[in-house]
Amino acid sequence: LCAGLEPRAELLIEHLHRLQDAEGGLRQGLLAALAERLCLSQAEVHEVASFYHHFEVVADDTALPTTTLRVCTSLSCAMAGGESLLADLRQRLAGDKTVRVVEAPCIGQCHRAPAACVGQRQLPQASVESVSAALASGVTGPRALPASGAPESAQAYAQLRRLLAGELTPDAVLAELKVSGLRGLGGAGFPAWRKWDTVRAQPGPRYLVVNIDEGEVGTFKDWQLLATQPRLALEGLLIAALVVGVEKAWIYLRDEYHDCRLLLQDELVALRQRIQGWQAEFPHAVFPAIELRRGAGAYVCGEESALIESLEGRRGLPRLKPPIVALQGLFGRPTLAHNVETLSWLPAILEQGGAWLAGQGRRGRSGLRRFSVSGRVRNPGCYLAPAGITLRELVDEFAGGMADGHELQAWLPGGASGGILPAALAELPLDFDTLAAQGAFVGSMAVVVLSQQDSVREVATELMRFFEHESCGQCTPCRAGTTQARALMQAPAWDAERLTELSHVMREASICGLGQAAPNPFDSVLRFFPREVQP
Ligand code: SF4
Repeated sequence: LCAGLEPRAELLIEHLHRLQDAEGGLRQGLLAALAERLCLSQAEVHEVASFYHHFEVVADDTALPTTTLRVCTSLSCAMAGGESLLADLRQRLAGDKTVRVVEAPCIGQCHRAPAACVGQRQLPQASVESVSAALASGVTGPRALPASGAPESAQAYAQLRRLLAGELTPDAVLAELKVSGLRGLGGAGFPAWRKWDTVRAQPGPRYLVVNIDEGEVGTFKDWQLLATQPRLALEGLLIAALVVGVEKAWIYLRDEYHDCRLLLQDELVALRQRIQGWQAEFPHAVFPAIELRRGAGAYVCGEESALIESLEGRRGLPRLKPPIVALQGLFGRPTLAHNVETLSWLPAILEQGGAWLAGQGRRGRSGLRRFSVSGRVRNPGCYLAPAGITLRELVDEFAGGMADGHELQAWLPGGASGGILPAALAELPLDFDTLAAQGAFVGSMAVVVLSQQDSVREVATELMRFFEHESCGQCTPCRAGTTQARALMQAPAWDAERLTELSHVMREASICGLGQAAPNPFDSVLRFFPREVQP
């Protein structure tokens, strides 16, 4: 089952995927054999296999289903009927031992809600009929995306070639990056050039990690980017690798994006052939080896140090910082970790100049942002818009206005983590740091729009259930705090004093951003929608 995979411990998760894909579950006996093959203890294999939501550890004599059906009940899908779809499918498939029905957190198709995934095939705007038809057809492999095999754009890899040919020096690229003001677009917004500068100054070997584990509720921008322009990301990866001088690059792709994995596999085959040609033409260039890895359904692995742990074949437990990963990251080496969209801006910055990107934006903000917009708007979708745009402008100019029969009541500026804001604040500029005074942030720019038909209180409670489910459990303030908060939020009237105290402890004492941001939904409700939770 694991033929062709090297028996290295850091490839444990890849091995587990092979077994899970082939058998529909992870039998204890096979896990024991795998432990022997990878020279790991059975406990080490078991703790990893049981950590990730996409693995199912079972006894040897368990009858396993042939297909896993995931139905998204996360916020945007729930608003589009995801929960009743799940209930209907459970009823329809009750007694069918060939299908395992799983309630899934966000699967990155919020603009085509409700979404389901039949085996490895995503089904947007799913219904009982379309899911049943997919199951009956037996076609459960990933869908081939249209970009796969598309004719090569004349511009693809043009900026990389300029760098290889010496038209651009690494210093000139770094200078242009600084002028552009490009910030990390995975959520943190850290200036990209500073990371490059830091990693580049460290002794080698240096590594590069591309984070495509977008799991924030309401986020699908990386999926959209990869599905339509995968070569931008790969060109950006190589430019970064050559400028910073990295020996090897890893692409960590969230497991829900089976279609993108297929696409990237094809693109990487083609890229390796190109690299052979470039290597002959530019013999002094040092290209990195590139490895594509699968996540396994753990939201917390979007946090860069958890992702690095996962790449090393372990549970995705965020690391204590310092040291930062730029100094001591993957396998203890200096690591440039970037969200895929951040890297994909490199070709445009080098073609049009850093000043071009810096000159975009509204209300004094700089740059362009990819907003994932979903919920009660007429045209949910991924929109490239100026930094500093307001929610009102984003909805009206890009998303076609509010959906028929819906009036803006509230909105989430940054998915589950970024807080919940009232309609009265729809004129605030959207960008990093602009919402801090409201206790909110844009993060990965996942905007979910709620109307008068939605209960903000219920939305906040569901988000807390999500955080509780996704907490890695490593630290008590987050593990116990999310459970306590959810319980408190289920009371008819909220105990504001206890929730506020809990919020303080979670923010101050959690190791990573998940626990620190988890109180945002209830803090927002207490601040902006107190009447919803008073007796
Ligand atoms: Fe894990 Fe939560 Fe602690 Fe982060 S804050 S390390 S997710 S328990």
